[in-house]
Amino acid sequence: MPISLTPPPSALDVLAIAAHRDDVEQTCGGTLLRLAGAGAVTGILDLTAGETGTRGSAVERGLEAEHAAAILKVAWRGNLGLPDGALVNSLEYKHRLAAAIRQTRPRIVIVPYPHGRHPDHYTAGTLGYEAAFLAGLSKLDLPECEAPAFRPATVIYASLYSNERPSFIVDISEQFEARLQSLLAYRSQYRDQQAGGGIFPAEGDIPARVEAIARNYGMMIGVRYGEPYISPTPLRVGDLRTLEIDTFTKGGIITPF
Ligand SMILES: [Zn+2]
Repeated sequence: MPISLTPPPSALDVLAIAAHRDDVEQTCGGTLLRLAGAGAVTGILDLTAGETGTRGSAVERGLEAEHAAAILKVAWRGNLGLPDGALVNSLEYKHRLAAAIRQTRPRIVIVPYPHGRHPDHYTAGTLGYEAAFLAGLSKLDLPECEAPAFRPATVIYASLYSNERPSFIVDISEQFEARLQSLLAYRSQYRDQQAGGGIFPAEGDIPARVEAIARNYGMMIGVRYGEPYISPTPLRVGDLRTLEIDTFTKGGIITPF
């Protein structure tokens, strides 16, 4: 089910790639909103349209995704139309994603951390990393893609649903409430209903769950709410004074090495 991919008006500063509509709203939406507030051009690429989801239809989720994108102030949101519940790390899918990366030219790409419960999530992490690499191969022709080769400078993993220690955490204290609203924009998914009652949390329970996770990560860096990331490489530092580490901050978690 191919979905037309309209290129963004300009190259993106940051592109968040995720398996499903409503994933970014849970893992890195606060970061995107914060970036937009600072003038960055941000985008979201959902790999699937949600056609096999227990609740709602792909059309409903499409409208909800647009609403959520407006709340997160992203400049662009696309959908690759890959099969929901059946993401695989195939050459065809990698090429389609690489083509989308060439068209959107993001300097930084955020992908899901490739360990987790849902196969689509961890597959999206590997697919995203490998597609970002392939997009930069100048001799690689990609089907139906006129855009020249382009490789993002940075790939980082949104690790909210892993138990791994983050490489860094973004302070989203001021963006948390809007991020929660962007998730609740998916009325078809989170409104109380019979379908999926055993799997989905009750509507009234969602804000508390989302807040508990964001508070946990916020505490690690001495702020109210945070979003965690894992970098596959160490962070490069020039001037030590630019480091934002409050080692002895109240509420911070000090882990013995
Ligand atoms: Zn998901």
